[in-house]
Amino acid sequence: MERIKCAVCNHDRLDEIYKRDILYPKESTVTYLQCEKCGYVFISPTFEPEFYKEYYESIPTKDTGTNDTHYQHTYDFISRHIEPEITIDIGAMYGGLLKLFSGHRIAIEPADIDTKGIQYHHCMLGEQPSYLANIADLVTACHTLEHALDINDFINEIRKLLKSNGHVYIEVPSCESITESVGNTLYWGHISMFSRSTLNRLMWNHGFEPIEIKISTNKDRPQLMGLYANKQTRQDIQGYIIDHIGFIEQSLDKALKRFKPKGEVLIWGFGQDCMDFLSKLPEKESKVRYTTDKHTEIQDKNKSIIKVVDKVKTGKFRKFKIEKPEGHKPDQIYIAVKNFVIAKDIQKEAKEMYPNAEIIKLY
Ligand SMILES: [Zn+2]
Repeated sequence: MERIKCAVCNHDRLDEIYKRDILYPKESTVTYLQCEKCGYVFISPTFEPEFYKEYYESIPTKDTGTNDTHYQHTYDFISRHIEPEITIDIGAMYGGLLKLFSGHRIAIEPADIDTKGIQYHHCMLGEQPSYLANIADLVTACHTLEHALDINDFINEIRKLLKSNGHVYIEVPSCESITESVGNTLYWGHISMFSRSTLNRLMWNHGFEPIEIKISTNKDRPQLMGLYANKQTRQDIQGYIIDHIGFIEQSLDKALKRFKPKGEVLIWGFGQDCMDFLSKLPEKESKVRYTTDKHTEIQDKNKSIIKVVDKVKTGKFRKFKIEKPEGHKPDQIYIAVKNFVIAKDIQKEAKEMYPNAEIIKLY
């Protein structure tokens, strides 16, 4: 049998902290497991997904309207930070929270909404139409994540709805302040029991940064309220790297333009900057063979004019001792290194060794 793993940190050592028999709605025994590493608490085993769906659909619900102070409390918490133009609420019930927001409002998994101004989708999260992808400034999920059979799927589905700079608001029962709570939080439908640290950790795993997280002061229903920002999407991070590659390519292009070999040429560089330049040299020059071993001295078999020295020794701090490349009388020396300190050292050494040579910095 496959070992049960923590859904937050993937650790497989779990402590059994409580076992309880339940009679309703199905006679069974559930165990509360806690991850030894991150502390996440969850129920095992769970029932079949269809069982929960049928059960929740059979529960009668009541429209508490917008006068519910609970919704107002949530709205106030969120609106201190953001003013969303498009809000999607998961498990929206009667739209009590959505009604407080202005802008475009969309309900997924609503109880029975037919409120003017709210677009509603009677489907489960994950079954919503594709045109809802990447449109939301804010996705709210109040008292739904703790019911999710797969918390990672749940957050992934939320991410699909969000704009790249969108926010997520998660509200779940808080296991940090339930001691004397009259609401029985150890309810079989709550698959997960979150603390601030486990919720934060889950959200971090999905690339969300906490904006504000707190435990509400409502003693009857202590809950965690967390607002998260989707600041760095995968595309953003890829963009930074692609921009950096563009910058490197640009500086290489400039270096190639500066390279106008005359007579015997010595390319004197260090590390990747030097190798990048050599790899970009035109066909004629790139026939030069070179090695990257100890001295990286390139000797052209066909008596090419190009010789490369990568003979920089690290000595004292910020001081690079350079050994004189033997057997050369270059007319030109090209310095192929971006680092200002190393380039300066090479320039100094080159001037002393070959006072008559023209010295050109490639970068
Ligand atoms: Zn864990």
